[in-house]
Amino acid sequence: MQPLFEVFCTGTRASRAALERRWRKWRGEEASGGRWVLEIRVFGKRPRRCVPDGCRETDLAGVVCSLGCKIVELSVTYLGLPLHSGAIPKNKVQGLVDKVVARLPAWRGSMMSRGGRLVWIKSVMTAVPIYAMMANGIPTWAREEIEACCRRFLWAGADASVRWLWLQRNPADDGRAWTELPLKVAPEVRCLFHASTNFEVGNGQRTLFWKDRWIIGSSVEDIAPALISLVAKRTRSSQSVAVALQGNQWIRELRGGFSVQAISQYLKLWDAVREINLSPSTPDRLLWRWSSDGHFSVRSAYQLLHEGSLHLPEIAIVWKTWAPLRVKIFLWLAWRRRLWTADRRRRHGLDARTTCHLCNTAEETCDHLLATCSFSLRVWDGILSQLGLHRPSLTDCNSVLGWWQRVRELWPPGARKGGDSLFALVTWEVWKERNARCFRSEASSVDAVVSSALGVASEWVRAGAKALGCILSE
Ligand SMILES: [Zn+2]
Repeated sequence: MQPLFEVFCTGTRASRAALERRWRKWRGEEASGGRWVLEIRVFGKRPRRCVPDGCRETDLAGVVCSLGCKIVELSVTYLGLPLHSGAIPKNKVQGLVDKVVARLPAWRGSMMSRGGRLVWIKSVMTAVPIYAMMANGIPTWAREEIEACCRRFLWAGADASVRWLWLQRNPADDGRAWTELPLKVAPEVRCLFHASTNFEVGNGQRTLFWKDRWIIGSSVEDIAPALISLVAKRTRSSQSVAVALQGNQWIRELRGGFSVQAISQYLKLWDAVREINLSPSTPDRLLWRWSSDGHFSVRSAYQLLHEGSLHLPEIAIVWKTWAPLRVKIFLWLAWRRRLWTADRRRRHGLDARTTCHLCNTAEETCDHLLATCSFSLRVWDGILSQLGLHRPSLTDCNSVLGWWQRVRELWPPGARKGGDSLFALVTWEVWKERNARCFRSEASSVDAVVSSALGVASEWVRAGAKALGCILSE
């Protein structure tokens, strides 16, 4: 029988007994006529029902007064969700999802390291809905939405920054608060933005003459690269098409001697811009190249940044290896070929060196850098000779995964855990060396990298890498 009303009480035996006593007393006074069902609900337990033999229907206030409880509107919330005898309505669960989403803005993700984001998701974010999940269980759609939000937060970064640039440069958003905001954006993101956008010139006021792609999908930089170095940096990043075309101002910006190549490119550019007529009443339009309607979407930016992803079941080994979280994430990215090596930069239309930063001979790819590069192999030689081992051969091995498996075979099954930590450590040190050469122009010798790796290894051992300690002390 459906209860006419529900009484919630705390779970102690005394409080339940008191409630039942009052109920019986009230029945004794008022009993006759209609049927009343008192249902005492205790959180997390089966409801206990007292069905009186016969009660005359009376006003609710009388019952409430005799039971000594309060009338509250359902829903009463507990752990953020309404107490309900049936399924919880969708709009109530949505509130819980919104709470999680509010704590995970993607822009905040771009200010934290990947390791920090993962810790934040695991220890903070997944704790928000956990009580609700234990008490009521939450529907699948809500769980998937929370997971998707956590994923977006973990991988936030370039796609969020591209969105900022889009908002800042879009003439449709002119005069908004963020237009003049001095944004600090990584050079890769800026290049990605330029490679992904075109301008349709109207009055030419919001389009940069030297940098933006506005001449039939090309920029001045594309048409006349030799001329760019003759223009002052400040002019390049500020002169609009409207200003540059007024009385051919752009020609006066060219300073210094012209090479033969620059002269031919100048003539080409002259031809390209000569025919352009500005229409003062139409504002410029910014177009996103990766969507059919020309509008920016985070989804397309995300896909662009993460293209070529593949599923590798063996990847679980990365997470089992003892290494600091940021190193594990680095290994995971390396395994999935997602590090920003020269090949990947070129795939995204960015500038990149033609040869490897370490050996200066082959093309820089993830697999080359961490597995087959002669510099990395010499680092491995140095490390393994310290342990009295010889480096395995590279025959038929041309990927990070293949190389890892080859190195694993050096150790007996009981010592492989330590071997995995060592692999993580050496590849991390090689990557750091590559970055030092690439971004700071600081090159170290093989011996310096080996001794730095051994120093870091002893730090890892002190921090808890016992298996690594075992193989180093042998
Ligand atoms: Zn190399």
